[in-house]
Amino acid sequence: MERSRPDDRRRRGPSPWRRPFLFWRTFAMEPLPKLLEASAALHRHLCPRQVLGIRMGLLAGKALGMDLPQHDKRLLTIVETDGCASDGIAVATNCWVGRRTMRVEDYGKVAATFVDTADGRAVRIIPRPDARALARDFAPRARNKWEAMLQGYQRMPDETLLSMQPVRLATTVEAILGRAGWRAACEACGEEILNGREIQRRDITLCRACAGESYYRPETPVELSFAFLPAEAG
Ligand SMILES: [Zn+2]
Ligand SMILES: [Zn+2]
Repeated sequence: MERSRPDDRRRRGPSPWRRPFLFWRTFAMEPLPKLLEASAALHRHLCPRQVLGIRMGLLAGKALGMDLPQHDKRLLTIVETDGCASDGIAVATNCWVGRRTMRVEDYGKVAATFVDTADGRAVRIIPRPDARALARDFAPRARNKWEAMLQGYQRMPDETLLSMQPVRLATTVEAILGRAGWRAACEACGEEILNGREIQRRDITLCRACAGESYYRPETPVELSFAFLPAEAG
């Protein structure tokens, strides 16, 4: 791990990393086979990327010194892709979109940042670029590449499988989480906005869609939309 020089640290303010990495302490973590079973049940199959996700979550627990899967909301996980890896991460950490402890920043990467919201420490973990090729060495009986990854990823040591870097969030944890329980109404569309996600334009409160950040364009007025539903059989 590269350490920042003392002058860098002063410029950026005090480091939240007062505690060193606690690699060698044992934590009350679920064993890998149990997590694999839970992830496969959720996902309806087990695949190499779920194994990667679980290993990433387990390593995050060791690095941050947290017992995972968590029973509270202290860990915030930001995953950089949707799909299989994020299921593995969710099972290993107990961070879920529905609990507001997992967010998807879709960069299309198997990568995730794990944030201890109590003190702001954060680590970003990715699979090493050569992990796929090295998996074969740890799964000599595998019948194909897919099986080699599935088995190898379970056996490879952390430092062979994954790469980890302490990071600092570009924004505050509070800004990411928003104002839990806060409600506002958009003055343009009238729809309710949760968690402080409204936008103020001069004196007007707007939702992101009405402020022009919408991912959709309406095709017909709301009242007319229901006319397109098929008539009920009966
Ligand atoms: Zn899968
Ligand atoms: Zn609106």
